[in-house]
Amino acid sequence: MIADPTAVRFPDPALPGVVWERTGVCNRCGDCCRSGDPFGTGHAGCPLLAELADGTTYCTVWGTDNPYWQNACRIWPSEPAHVVDYSRCSFRFRRVEG
Ligand code: SF4
Ligand code: SF4
Repeated sequence: MIADPTAVRFPDPALPGVVWERTGVCNRCGDCCRSGDPFGTGHAGCPLLAELADGTTYCTVWGTDNPYWQNACRIWPSEPAHVVDYSRCSFRFRRVEG
């Protein structure tokens, strides 16, 4: 079997011994980024999100050294609970340990 190149494993910080394997790539639906403003400015969603004419979105700091992206979004979602409320999310999880 060929390994999925998108696979990344994350220990669950709340469940000792449990490891989640995430597969897939972000489809840029933007649903998680629209869910609130992580900077508390009162914006309707993350102010770093940009909307495209085709209905998709992109993160304006994706892959940069922006500290919020580096410390939060770069390693998110890391467990299924993070995306349970986003039915369009294209990431998938399976429990591989624990
Ligand atoms: S920094 Fe980018 S990926 Fe993170 S919530 Fe904002 S728009 Fe989304
Ligand atoms: S909900 Fe999932 S697929 Fe949609 S933007 Fe967020 S991480 Fe990407």
